[in-house]
Amino acid sequence: MFRNALFVFLASALIVGFVACPAPEQAEEPPEPAEEPMTEEQQLQFVKDNCICKTCPSWTPACDEKGETGGFCAIGKTECITEEKGCVCPECPVTKKLDLKWGYYCTRGSAKEMMAAELEKEKMEKEGEAKTEGQPAREAKPPVKKSKGGGS
Ligand code: SF4
Ligand code: SF4
Repeated sequence: MFRNALFVFLASALIVGFVACPAPEQAEEPPEPAEEPMTEEQQLQFVKDNCICKTCPSWTPACDEKGETGGFCAIGKTECITEEKGCVCPECPVTKKLDLKWGYYCTRGSAKEMMAAELEKEKMEKEGEAKTEGQPAREAKPPVKKSKGGGS
């Protein structure tokens, strides 16, 4: 009798303990490591492997004859393209990967050159604004009177 009671007590204690114990939490997955920025060499290789300039309407047979392979965003202008007939750079994986925002590198210069030109333009604009702010407002010139004929 006593043994039965003890057995029931132990069994109940086990059940209560099992229900009360929360399931062990699943270990959180470690965050994915941040993507390392590419070295210049890796960027050049990525451009070489992914450039789609050859599918562009501005591409010319002269470029094929010259053995051009594109990648103008990295290497800059080429002599074999002189007319801008469309640019597929916005659809190129390089644009997305390297966060580029221009196009027509074959006729206008590399992405680095575009960036430098843009920064220079911004600088000139700021300098121009600063000069204008520092100057007193000019008085409006009186309107030029029409001279009457005869001169006397
Ligand atoms: S962004 Fe333009 S120039 Fe650069 S790799 Fe792509 S297609 Fe070629
Ligand atoms: S840089 Fe742009 S316009 Fe020039 S060939 Fe490449 S895709 Fe065409």
